[in-house]
Amino acid sequence: MSVRLRLTVLYSSILAFTLIAFSIVLYVTLSRLTLGVVADTLAEEAKRLLDRKVIDDQIFLFNGQEYRLGRIVLPASGFAAPQTYVQTINAGGIVTSRTANLVDEGVVLPLSDAAFEAVFSGEKTIEQATVKDGKLLVFTRPVVVEGNRIVGAVQVARSLDEYVQSQDTLRRILVIGSIVVTVIAFGIGWMLAGIALRPIDRITHTAQAIGTERDFGRRVDYTGPYDEIGRLATTFNEMLGALQSAYRQEAQALQAQRRFVADASHELRTPLTTIRGNIALLQREPPISSEDRIDVLADMADESERMSRLVNDLLVLARADAGRPLRSEPVALRPLIEDVCRKVRVVAAQHTIDCTQLDDVSVQGDEDAIKQVLLILLDNGRKFTPPGGQIVVTTEEAPQQVIIHVRDTGLGIDPAALPHIFERFYRGDSSRTGGGAGLGLAIAQSLVKAQHGTIGVTSTIGEGSTFTIRLPKASQAAPIERTAAAADGS
Ligand code: ADP
Repeated sequence: MSVRLRLTVLYSSILAFTLIAFSIVLYVTLSRLTLGVVADTLAEEAKRLLDRKVIDDQIFLFNGQEYRLGRIVLPASGFAAPQTYVQTINAGGIVTSRTANLVDEGVVLPLSDAAFEAVFSGEKTIEQATVKDGKLLVFTRPVVVEGNRIVGAVQVARSLDEYVQSQDTLRRILVIGSIVVTVIAFGIGWMLAGIALRPIDRITHTAQAIGTERDFGRRVDYTGPYDEIGRLATTFNEMLGALQSAYRQEAQALQAQRRFVADASHELRTPLTTIRGNIALLQREPPISSEDRIDVLADMADESERMSRLVNDLLVLARADAGRPLRSEPVALRPLIEDVCRKVRVVAAQHTIDCTQLDDVSVQGDEDAIKQVLLILLDNGRKFTPPGGQIVVTTEEAPQQVIIHVRDTGLGIDPAALPHIFERFYRGDSSRTGGGAGLGLAIAQSLVKAQHGTIGVTSTIGEGSTFTIRLPKASQAAPIERTAAAADGS
């Protein structure tokens, strides 16, 4: 059964039960009230009769003695209602007199044994009786003389036909009314449930379509208020948005990975081909001259060196991709930068490496990773700056961060190349690349990112480039001895 039908049936059943209960209570209460009113009238009538002494001189038996009990002298029309019947009985239960309307219809008012007993022990009774297909309400009260002697009873009755008729009509109205109201309510409920559940239907269709077409660009079309259904539709759409971007990211990552693997294989193939060619030369018969052999071996050593550098770089990137966490501890920058500068000076004798404008600040990060990033940047500066040029490293303190600038006075980077230099295997103008595989800046970026920092660049062709690293400031200063020891050890 659908939710729509279940809701409608449930709600209609509750309404139907409520109507039935209400009808029963109304019916019973009205019946009791009406009967009570008739019974009160009859009791009043009986009292009036006895007060007026309209009953006199009628013979009746009491304890074997003859008494006279009154004769009813008032005509039926003299009562409050014309359909009032009056009858007297003596202590023997014999009817001693009746009003004209009873005589005319040949009817004797009945009195059950139980009521007879009750009346002759001094109580008043009220009974319903069926006489000649009609219903009567009969009130009976004892006739007491000389203080406490019950000499007979007077019965006053009235037809209940009108009452029965009105009860029938009321019952019909209640039954038909309840059925009609329930049916109308079912129809309206069915319609409202349909309207309320329509967006859910749409969500289901959208979900089904996405399942078959894998089109995460689809959205549920909902324009209603922001109620439970509205929230569901919005949440569903947000979830689709998240799914779509996750799907897109995954596709991009997969594509990047494919490209990376293809580039890596390509890069590895070049030195391998050279080495293989050189081995073939060494195996040649007759053997090559000893001068040539020295050149070939030097070549092979260079290529092996290049390959092992490449494999190392790939390993660093693979680790970064796997999300291997770096250390996060306070690192004092001044000794670290000075140490890196000292190392670069050894291989950059024709350049000025200026590392004098440094602050005594500490960053929160991994000492080895920061060193590696600076080595990459300084090495690039050296590679892309003509002899005699200058490379300057400075630090700057910001509220939450420490900024490191690595500025060179080199060739600068072509604005078209600028957005790509952090990509893996990207190399600028091949005549100026200095034999790198294009992985240096990609490695630098992933190491900085892993320390919750950023790296950026500004450059002017012919004037030089400035690389800017931002790293989170350490909450406390790095212990000097540790850093000095680390610097000595490297
Ligand atoms: P590689 O390891 O080949 O140097 P990088 O990722 O370090 O690769 O650099 C990518 C490219 O960015 C280089 O080929 C070069 O074109 C450009 N580049 C990087 N640093 C500088 C710099 N300081 N000055 C000019 N160009 C640079």
